Amino acid sequence: MSETLEQEADLHGPANPLLKAWQTPFETPPFDEIAPEHFLPAFEQAFVDHAAEIAAIVNDPSAPDFHNTITALERSGRLLAKVSAVFYDLVSAHSNPALLEIDKEVSLRMARHWNPIMMNAVLFGRIVMLHDNRATLNLTGEQMRLLDRTYTRFHRAGAGLDEAAKTRMAAINEHLANLGTTFSHHLLGDEQEWFLELGEGDRDGLSDSFVAAARSAAEERGMSGKAIVTLSRSSVEPFLKSSARRDLREKVYKAFVARGDNGNANDNNTSIVEILTLRQEAARLLGYPTFAAYRLEDSMAKTPEAVRSLLERVWKPARARALADRDELQALIAEEGGNFALAPWDWRYYAEKLRQAKANFDDASIKPYLSLDHMIEAAFDCATRLFGVTFTERKDIPTWHPDVRVWEVKDRAGKHKALFYGDYFARPSKRSGAWMTSLRDQQKLDGEVAPIIINVCNFAKGAEGQPSLLSPDDARTLFHEFGHGLHGMMSDVTYPSLSGTSVFTDFVELPSQLYEHWQEQPQVLRQFARHYQTGEPLPDDLLQRFLDARKFNQGFATVEFVSSALIDLEFHSQPASVSRDVRAFERAELEKIGMPAEISLRHRPQQFGHLFTGDHYAAGYYSYMWSEVMDADAFGAFEEAGDIFDPAVAKRLLDDIYSSGGSRDPEEAYVAFRGRDPEPDALLRRRGLLEKTGAV
Ligand SMILES: [Zn+2]
Repeated sequence: MSETLEQEADLHGPANPLLKAWQTPFETPPFDEIAPEHFLPAFEQAFVDHAAEIAAIVNDPSAPDFHNTITALERSGRLLAKVSAVFYDLVSAHSNPALLEIDKEVSLRMARHWNPIMMNAVLFGRIVMLHDNRATLNLTGEQMRLLDRTYTRFHRAGAGLDEAAKTRMAAINEHLANLGTTFSHHLLGDEQEWFLELGEGDRDGLSDSFVAAARSAAEERGMSGKAIVTLSRSSVEPFLKSSARRDLREKVYKAFVARGDNGNANDNNTSIVEILTLRQEAARLLGYPTFAAYRLEDSMAKTPEAVRSLLERVWKPARARALADRDELQALIAEEGGNFALAPWDWRYYAEKLRQAKANFDDASIKPYLSLDHMIEAAFDCATRLFGVTFTERKDIPTWHPDVRVWEVKDRAGKHKALFYGDYFARPSKRSGAWMTSLRDQQKLDGEVAPIIINVCNFAKGAEGQPSLLSPDDARTLFHEFGHGLHGMMSDVTYPSLSGTSVFTDFVELPSQLYEHWQEQPQVLRQFARHYQTGEPLPDDLLQRFLDARKFNQGFATVEFVSSALIDLEFHSQPASVSRDVRAFERAELEKIGMPAEISLRHRPQQFGHLFTGDHYAAGYYSYMWSEVMDADAFGAFEEAGDIFDPAVAKRLLDDIYSSGGSRDPEEAYVAFRGRDPEPDALLRRRGLLEKTGAV
């Protein structure tokens, strides 16, 4: 067969699966046909199409109106959205060297493509004219919001700058795109290179399920028969919690926190300084004193001061709790006859021991009840009860890896609503973390378009023939990502750019974090947490101990989060010249806030992908906590109704939060749901930080 030759000849035409109509069920991407060499030609075509669509808007001789400008913009770039969605899904969830190479090229081409659009003076002139006259245009609420968001997006990209400043902005954007890709490739590189082999004598304290996962991790890397710890969080954290070998804990911990900071070819220190310098320059060009001021203006928080005030309010009680916990852990070491000071690689291990002693609970005892399949079932069932949607697995839809599962989602009336892909297991081709993304967003601009939503996690696979057993944290992550997933699947807006999760970053974690609450409800656990071998439900006594243990070690968790959020804010609100030496800056900032020496940042700068692989979470890591103020308060609406699935509250939740995407102002949407502003202490109460610490 001359298939390769034919493909080479025709990659710009219909032989390229990215460019032809998809004949799959629901027109999903034909992953089984797509190869790396298809992407560049497809992107080229997509750029050409999109540029032509934009030119048609710009050159339209008729006076600007909502339809010929704003709606036309919404209709543009469909091929680009389609190709990008497939590409970035693969780059994150199942990459290979060829794709990573293409990624470098694509990120640069993407910046070069978007710059002239976002800074097009004629296009911006049309948008400004409409925006100035918006009160006279007779727009619906959603259209008004769309016009406002479109204007803001262009304005903030620099569309209103003079030509010299625009040229410089364009260069900065290209450079930043390049640096962001480099940062993430470095991180992936350091994560892929390192592993610790666990000999028979190195397994003290490790559970059977951990060793099984360590075996599959070895197998994934072509080391069958061996067992390894990798630098994925789902490997490192349980190891640090349970390994009785202090020397190995130290090794794993040090490798984990050194990712991107090893002075090798994957070192990220230089990239960070360059990124911060360029961001600062861009912010100044746009008229803001700092990147944080620029970034936060377009958020619920609005200012760096508002963010700092929330973080400091939480920091004080969290730090006090962590210091008290530290003393208890040190006492436990002494009690056991240990003659050493608690180190960062000891914290999780002794905290787990203390938790077992105090709450008589350990993760290993509950894991057999939290099989992945049962927790997926639980997440689906809660959605059925709240929103009436049902899930049916489909085996006929092509995916990017045999482990990926697909479900069809139907609404109450049995009508097709969405497709949901779950890609749950860690593997070397996947970047670390857990995320939700989409292959297609909901919209109904030209007829109903049903969304295709993806959840990606990094859970350890079960041993051969055994199910994957989740830790309580994993189960929570599953619900978290599924909450984001529902935000995408339940979306019911007209315009694509307002769809699903297209909301402020400090609002986007509300649907996900709120959904976590159902995972820890006794009613849900009694039904779905069943022993994977016997089918027995979770015993009441273990359930109670599990729920009690949830508030345990919250000082530590809150400290590692808030310190990371604070350092993010400082990086982006101080002059870039101050953070020229990233390590020294990190040390100084941690000292300033009184960081307990036994706890490290949840993400050290050199591995802080949230901040440096793109700018989505830059000066925005606090968002999780901003959203948590709302989710802690929001679940109270169900508790007050006396039913965690109360139909009236669930309907408001759907109408005001999960289905409305970015079509409403988030503050207004929250108040519509709850009837009032969120009550800020709910967060401290939920984390158990209001009691007994003596601090306020
Ligand atoms: Zn999230």
